[in-house]
Amino acid sequence: MSQRLALFGDLLDIEVDPGFAAPGDAAGVRYRPDHWLLVEDGRIVGAEPARAGSGPDASWQRVDHAGRLIAPGFIDTHVHCPQLDVIASYGTALLEWLNTYTFPAELRYADPLVAASGAERFVDALLAHGTTSAVVFPTVHKGATEALFTSARARGMRLVAGKVLMDRHAPDGLRDDVLQAERDCADLIARWHGNGRLSYAVTVRFAATSTPEQLAMASRLCREHPGVYMQTHVAENTDEVRWIAELFPEARSYLDVYHRHGLLHERAVLAHGIWLDDTDRALLRDTGAQIAFCPSSNLFLGSGLFDWQAAVDTGYRVSMASDVGGGTSLSMLRTLADAYKVQALRGVKLSAWKALHAATRGAAEALGLAHEIGQLGAGALADLAVWDWAVGPVATHRDAVARRGRAGVSPLAALHERVFAWMTLGDERNLVATYVAGSCRHERG
Ligand SMILES: [Zn+2]
Repeated sequence: MSQRLALFGDLLDIEVDPGFAAPGDAAGVRYRPDHWLLVEDGRIVGAEPARAGSGPDASWQRVDHAGRLIAPGFIDTHVHCPQLDVIASYGTALLEWLNTYTFPAELRYADPLVAASGAERFVDALLAHGTTSAVVFPTVHKGATEALFTSARARGMRLVAGKVLMDRHAPDGLRDDVLQAERDCADLIARWHGNGRLSYAVTVRFAATSTPEQLAMASRLCREHPGVYMQTHVAENTDEVRWIAELFPEARSYLDVYHRHGLLHERAVLAHGIWLDDTDRALLRDTGAQIAFCPSSNLFLGSGLFDWQAAVDTGYRVSMASDVGGGTSLSMLRTLADAYKVQALRGVKLSAWKALHAATRGAAEALGLAHEIGQLGAGALADLAVWDWAVGPVATHRDAVARRGRAGVSPLAALHERVFAWMTLGDERNLVATYVAGSCRHERG
């Protein structure tokens, strides 16, 4: 007997990148209000509109979310598991923040009990924010990496992660060495890459904390294990960029350090990418690497304003990320609202359509996983989140105003007004339930 689940609600997903088109002119918005979403054995098999006297028969478990939004689970392409301990820490920029807050927190993950409980707390927190997939930094510790994979595996999640590589410029207890790290990574890849829905990412913290020998080893791992991802940070902060230039005087730019070591490829996820030039942008396009845009973190640490328009003009891929604990919330809704504000400061208006695309289908495409996640089409796994359109008197009033519509506004523009208000005013309090491959993994208490 197959397991059949039918969810009723307002289905919304974004099928193609709408670019920076005006909200009323965007292509690719698929909105199916008052529809049943049909899920069989964890996979979406179709959708059908509600009609009087019809609907899925008794062979389906029916869950009625009438008047609620059902959207693909969010994909957070850059987030740090151990940094829930230091989220919302006062008063520093990147390099001082690492030394003052982050490294001491990560040191504690040498303890298997701390790592195990931290991993459980982290993946449950992702689900409690409507995020069903993530690309994650654990710590330098092999055990902490296994703990994270174990927790994600138990929940059936699509998660990409890998042991952090750091063999210099980090405190005692957080440094590895090339030989041991290579053995640990090879062992982790053998055991976890392709295990369930898990994938391994060769994880270079950033160029400053790896010797050239370690960067060469990381590249070797990517070559010897086709299909693994690579994740790191790039060009987040101007002091960092200057430091990298001192450490790698032969490189043309910060991004070029990774390119010279063979680390840029179509499964490479680089966080931030604020301080890039046109040559760097072309390199991202030509190698297929993506930038994870982390607006909350960039604002909080005062790192800078990501130039998304330049990314579109060049044609390289951009996904959305919380970068907790530099970011101040695991909520991708809050992250998208921050993205809108960052782009506004650059003179660009970010529609809810483009923002949502980058946090769902766009991220899935950039990760090579569009067949599986980020959409509500038949064939994808049912990684979903169910949302209240509005919570609290202000948002409820705003939603009611948007629903009434305005004269002379097209249906798509009117829908955008509603979705944009949800994106801007909403957060995890709007979340009703989260499903992973058709299994309910979080419900509002
Ligand atoms: Zn980060």
